[in-house]
Amino acid sequence: MSDKPNAHRSIMDIAAYKPGKSKSPTGQSLAKLSANESPLGASPKAVEAYGKYAYRLAEYPDGSAAELRAAIGEVHGLNPDRIGVGAGSDEILHLLAQAYVGAGDETVMSQYGFLVYPIVTKAAGGTCVQAPETNLKADVDALLAAVTEKTKIMFLANPNNPTGSYLTADEINRLHQGLRPDILLVLDAAYAEYVDAPDFEVGIDLVNRAQNVVMTRTFSKIGLANLRVGWFYGPEHILDAYNRLRGPFNVNGIAQAAASAAVKDIEFTAELKAHNAKMRDMLVRELQSNRYKTYPSQCNFVLTEFGDEPGFTAADAFNLLMEKGLIVREMHSYGLPNCLRISIGTEEQMQLVVQSLQEMSDHG
Ligand SMILES: *Cc1c(COP(=O)(O)O)cnc(C)c1O
Repeated sequence: MSDKPNAHRSIMDIAAYKPGKSKSPTGQSLAKLSANESPLGASPKAVEAYGKYAYRLAEYPDGSAAELRAAIGEVHGLNPDRIGVGAGSDEILHLLAQAYVGAGDETVMSQYGFLVYPIVTKAAGGTCVQAPETNLKADVDALLAAVTEKTKIMFLANPNNPTGSYLTADEINRLHQGLRPDILLVLDAAYAEYVDAPDFEVGIDLVNRAQNVVMTRTFSKIGLANLRVGWFYGPEHILDAYNRLRGPFNVNGIAQAAASAAVKDIEFTAELKAHNAKMRDMLVRELQSNRYKTYPSQCNFVLTEFGDEPGFTAADAFNLLMEKGLIVREMHSYGLPNCLRISIGTEEQMQLVVQSLQEMSDHG
């Protein structure tokens, strides 16, 4: 007999998710380019809706999130009955794993995929199998080869965090065609609002055609990270399972009100996208002209690779940027210790990144 309650072994097996750092060791305040937040803040309409809700703190929220689902449905042309909402897409990923994965089951993800997938899998008692990538891009054949008779879910961030790479609509279709119909394909489109590749498809077409696909989305990367609101679009049978499992009031009313205003503020989302594309292009161009290997990105961050030479490593660049007041994301936990992930910030911040890394390469 144990002298204390013990968490389930599969829970103690989880390596807790480490968010990017947001403070320097000296406590100096830093511009945070480590969490892919919006550099333009939130939609002013969302801020207004949030403020107006303050006098309703004593009330329970609408557990069905009807207004928010209607707003999402209207803007994206989707049936609100096939939309589910969660406290961040993190909660949705957790609940999907709870619903479809049990002890001894497996999920499949890509080698450099989002590190929440192994966490939600283990929390459900399963094992997450990683399929190898080629040149930091998910590989359809490797993903399919990783499937076994125990596979219940395949998680794919498209486009992917932290690499910024994506699979085309054709590649996603081929992946789906190669999957058994009893395996749930979760297309995590957290960065959908930032994609401009013409051969990308967010997943709506596939959800409409299949019974085993869901597309997950989030408000976090478009200005509302603090509110914790995510949503997904899927077949009715999956919404049915989800609605049985979720907490009856899982998304608070203030978040619902602000997210409803945010999704309808199409101009703000367009402004964010335009700012992001401009800064992302500039950053990639400048870093490449300084001979830094920078991966093409469809997201609101850029992954840059550094070498082994002392003075020019990823750790050196990280420290230099920190001295300049900027904090970026180290990639050790993703198995990419030579890389840094730099979120797109304001124009001023991006110029400071470029100048700092230019100084570093000039010393070489
Ligand atoms: C940020 C992110 C999410 C989670 O976002 P929430 O804040 O939980 O909505 C999900 N997937 C990927 C790939 C992300 O980068």
